[in-house]
Amino acid sequence: MRTVAKIWFDGLDLLGDPQAVLESIGCGADVAKIDDAPVLNVLHVWVTLDVTDERLSKLLALLQEHGAQWRDLRGDRFTEEEIEAAPLLNMWFNVTDTVFGGPRMGTTYDMSKACERCGVGARQTSAMIIDGEDLHKLEGQRVAATPYNDILVDEKLAAVLVESSVTGISFRGVFAAFEKRGHIQLPWRQLCATHTMPPMSPRSTAILPGDLCSCRRSGFDTPWEVPIRLVYRTSDLTGIRDVNVTWEWFGDTHYEGDVGDALFAYPRFLVTPKVRRIFLDAGVTGFHWLPIHVVDE
Ligand SMILES: [Zn+2]
Repeated sequence: MRTVAKIWFDGLDLLGDPQAVLESIGCGADVAKIDDAPVLNVLHVWVTLDVTDERLSKLLALLQEHGAQWRDLRGDRFTEEEIEAAPLLNMWFNVTDTVFGGPRMGTTYDMSKACERCGVGARQTSAMIIDGEDLHKLEGQRVAATPYNDILVDEKLAAVLVESSVTGISFRGVFAAFEKRGHIQLPWRQLCATHTMPPMSPRSTAILPGDLCSCRRSGFDTPWEVPIRLVYRTSDLTGIRDVNVTWEWFGDTHYEGDVGDALFAYPRFLVTPKVRRIFLDAGVTGFHWLPIHVVDE
């Protein structure tokens, strides 16, 4: 594992050709991505460097010298061997590619055991209903996700998961809702997890109880400046399946008793490398896979 820093700044702050300025500290096109032209008077520049790379401190000094503002995003990178050896991988989808679905589209939930304040524990009781307007986003895809981390797979991939004896899964139907034409069933399935992990170890990083709900399951801040590390104890891995979800739910919440107007947080999916291989073999590329960390406690 290595940790990288992704530094974002406005290239116009460098008062000169950003490419030349960056090259003066050894940051060429292999590490620096500079937009072709400013957008709304901002020239977006991203520089990705290993945190041990001496050019990182040079870059930050340079930005400070120019009075530039920057963002410093940290993340871990793993080798293929490390990913394959991990007991579980956090899988998540590119947020920008999601299809809208969930409570506000008419998907129903049993709230009898959910937190009254934040809605964590909402148990889905119907098929997943997505917005018919987003249907085109499924074209040519085999996997999709809603902004609430509901994972959708095409029915052939659902069959492969079953044939491969992937454990801890169940499926729900997926319908598209149209304003005038009602609901149409799609050749897709929602992938659901049957097993919820125990709470993470407090040694996890970038999961801060910023606005923790009294149920302790939502209201986490996930700052970008610290690499996110999901840490579990060895004993937490007893009973894991190929597909699991976290006890903690992430994201904003809004729940005042009306599911149709609710914004639910969502758990993260933790899956075995076996599931990743099946997805990769199916040509699925839209996911990130982040190994969990295991400690003896
Ligand atoms: Zn709560």
